Amino acid sequence: MKKHNYSAGPCILPQEVFEKSAQAILNFNDSGLSLLEISHRSKDFVAVMDQARALVLELLGLEGKGYQALFLAGGASLEFVMIPYNLMKVDGKAAYLDTGTWAAGAIKEAKLFGETVVVGSSKDDNYNHIPTGYSIPTDADYFHCTSNNTIFGTQMKTFPTTEVPVVCDMSSDIFSRVLDFSQFDLIYAGAQKNMGPAGTTLVVVKESILGKSGRDIPSMLDYSKHIKAESMYNTPPVFPVYTSLLTLQWLKNLGGIAAIEKQNNAKANLLYSEIDRNPLFKGAAAVADRSAMNATFLLNDEAHAPIFDEMWKAAGISGLPGHRSVGGYRASMYNALPLESVQVLVDVMKALETKV
Ligand code: PMP
Repeated sequence: MKKHNYSAGPCILPQEVFEKSAQAILNFNDSGLSLLEISHRSKDFVAVMDQARALVLELLGLEGKGYQALFLAGGASLEFVMIPYNLMKVDGKAAYLDTGTWAAGAIKEAKLFGETVVVGSSKDDNYNHIPTGYSIPTDADYFHCTSNNTIFGTQMKTFPTTEVPVVCDMSSDIFSRVLDFSQFDLIYAGAQKNMGPAGTTLVVVKESILGKSGRDIPSMLDYSKHIKAESMYNTPPVFPVYTSLLTLQWLKNLGGIAAIEKQNNAKANLLYSEIDRNPLFKGAAAVADRSAMNATFLLNDEAHAPIFDEMWKAAGISGLPGHRSVGGYRASMYNALPLESVQVLVDVMKALETKV
């Protein structure tokens, strides 16, 4: 039986994507060859890459606006390095918002390149909210933020208006909600939440911000080189890119980001209403900053954990334990998680009240 998969990532993808990608491994496009045994320079795979790159821009509403989409490797973590390499001037500086473990990871790498100003941080509150009231130095080479904090369950609802280029790590909420994506100059996201399997990272970059750092950039870390090579500077991660294309096509057929946002809001409202109603539970993140993707919550009485854990496992739920830095539970409700799975969890939370 298919589990109700709350894994924080890699995570659930649409069932039809699993099926179609499995089929492509056996016989890609009825070619008599597996997707895994053809050249990445073959006509069929070049078409996959071209379609995936175009569909990203279409879904984000960024077509014809000077952006390029790239499917790179190395995870979102390599972008922590590529961003300062490409954007921070020699003797320049960058501004970062410290909203969680991943933001802190990006800051750590930027510091290797130059002055890294942390404009706001919620670290002292175990990252349970998004800092406000910060200002971004106008002479920064860019401002970096993390739209959704996967571990702590907080999400930026608005983004600052600034003159400097805005870079956003959207690893855990890309394609989940309608935003004016043109307010960002560079968006990046590891595929393994809302887009596909682990192994590729999406980078969407406004070309006009590149080529200004004055640094000699190693080829594989140079966005301009990847753009010139149409995201095929070296052998791209063919299976993750193909599977990402299938997920993007699924999303488009569903009605795009606006349609999935409605479903995501319905799922989040259902779960957060129960967290707030049920006297046995409490939310971990500040209410105004709650993430629609990762809901973090705790039992008021830890003594109820063994019975609750037994109950959700018996209901076919998987991947619910919270990250060690928050404890409790984390329900990751990415695009492909159905509303019915959230209802199953809510029913278990209600049933716990009758058991304790
Ligand atoms: N940023 C965010 C917001 C993440 O959630 C993660 C991973 N969960 C990362 C960066 C790191 O991604 P990767 O493992 O692909 O390097």
